[in-house]
Amino acid sequence: MSEKIYEYKDDQDWYITNWSETESFSNFSQVSAEAGKILEDLQVALNKDGRTFPIEVAILRYHSAYRLLVFLVNLINEEAKRKLELIQRQGALLVVESGQLLYVYIPQGGVSLTDFLGAKEVKDTLLIATRNEGKTKEFRKLFGKLGYKVENLNDYPDLPEVAETGMTFEENARLKAETISQLTGKMVLADDSGLQVDILGGLPGVWSARFAGVGATDAENNIKLLHELAMVFELKDRAAHFHTTLVVASPEKESLVVEADWPGYINFEPKGENGFGYDPLFLVGETGKTSAELTVEEKNEQSHRAQAVKKLMEVFPAWQSKQSL
Ligand code: IMP
Repeated sequence: MSEKIYEYKDDQDWYITNWSETESFSNFSQVSAEAGKILEDLQVALNKDGRTFPIEVAILRYHSAYRLLVFLVNLINEEAKRKLELIQRQGALLVVESGQLLYVYIPQGGVSLTDFLGAKEVKDTLLIATRNEGKTKEFRKLFGKLGYKVENLNDYPDLPEVAETGMTFEENARLKAETISQLTGKMVLADDSGLQVDILGGLPGVWSARFAGVGATDAENNIKLLHELAMVFELKDRAAHFHTTLVVASPEKESLVVEADWPGYINFEPKGENGFGYDPLFLVGETGKTSAELTVEEKNEQSHRAQAVKKLMEVFPAWQSKQSL
């Protein structure tokens, strides 16, 4: 067995663990009684053949039980060759292995017993308000890991199109999520994304897909953007960001809204072959690379959509466990 240090760090959570054969399980989670309890309970729950995990965990910041459990489940799977799965169900977090329920985390305030026991399938369904299979695939990859069955609008061919008539990303995302949730009775996730260029007062914004006119191609939109910026000669004046707003709607419930930005600059000419939309023109931060020069994996680690989904995962269990209106 290896002796390795693992670390997870973001603005709200920070853990360092040492997996070593010589150590017995211990934790230094003075920052949070809840984190300490999760570690101890998990240790008991996952105990096999009387063996405890040789793991030391230092928790320096703690905000999300979900983050901590993802981190621990991945670590234990890798080091102890276990097949643990983390599933979110009606706001609770379940650790499951080969069909056996081993551990349940229940957020403060509890979860609705009827919802928790009443759901017919173990996996909750999440309907993504899109017909785009590429986008669905991205979301399926992310939510699939959490044990969600992910559907999209192609599974509901009779639903009407919801026109994106809003003036903001949030209005559009709400319109799609809430309308489709009302029509189907399902939990629905809708997103609205676009590019916002500072010197153009936030344009193309919600008009990103149709900047050069309804039905415009990506290439036509990119040409229009370069044209609009033709007199802006300094890169520093061409600051922009991609933006994503995600809305999750469930019948009889206040919707959940999260958003994220991915900052950068608009290049003077297209570069790179990957991605779509404005990717060939969008220079990522200070890297000098456009997002079309990133691999799918690299983009998925940092994009506006990825950041918004990450935020969503953190607030989702608490939202899902809230009672209906
Ligand atoms: P949607 O809301 O995800 O359909 O995005 C609307 C439009 O914004 C797209 O048609 C693209 O023009 C632009 N856009 C959104 N996300 C991206 C991205 O990741 N790369 C490039 N363009 C994007």
